[in-house]
Amino acid sequence: MRIGILAIQGDVREHLQHVQKAGAEAIEVRTLGDLAPVDGLIIPGGESTTIGMLMEEEGLIDAIRTRIRDEQFPVYGTCAGLILLAKEVVGKSPARIGAMDLIADRNAYGRQVASFEAPLQIDGIGGDPFPAVFIRAPQVKNIGPQVKPLAYYQGQIVMAEQGSLLVSSFHPEMTNDIRVHQYFLDKVRQH
Ligand code: GLN
Repeated sequence: MRIGILAIQGDVREHLQHVQKAGAEAIEVRTLGDLAPVDGLIIPGGESTTIGMLMEEEGLIDAIRTRIRDEQFPVYGTCAGLILLAKEVVGKSPARIGAMDLIADRNAYGRQVASFEAPLQIDGIGGDPFPAVFIRAPQVKNIGPQVKPLAYYQGQIVMAEQGSLLVSSFHPEMTNDIRVHQYFLDKVRQH
């Protein structure tokens, strides 16, 4: 099983290491050629406007959207990646894949508490609470009927899935805990 890490911005190396620790091959994805052989894709956090623009220039937005539609391609979007997968975005909305039936509210935690860590109970992930790191994180404002919430923080959805798609507001690559990556790899395996 080969997992691609979109390598435009963000914690690319940390995601590669987490995927490898969880037992799969991981490669960096920058072009359509890189995308072709991967069984699943992780979109790291960063600045969604920049990432979306560069993805569009490479033709990656269309290619990923088509693979999701035609073959239920598994994609995990973290933070900016959640915004890029969202069907709708509150306010300034970047070029994006738009495949997941939810509304993303960018920077919804405001400037004062822009970054924080919180222990989260995640549906389907056993053991201790997951140490979730939030950095200028989006909130999920609304979900369609096919979207299943997996974790909440202060009453807001911060992790969810829809078929082969997975999103989280937080960065699971910033701690040594690989359980969220394992969860995504299980989805790719099932697919
Ligand atoms: N605030 C960023 C955005 O709107 C996302 C932040 C992140 O990915 N850590 O794109």
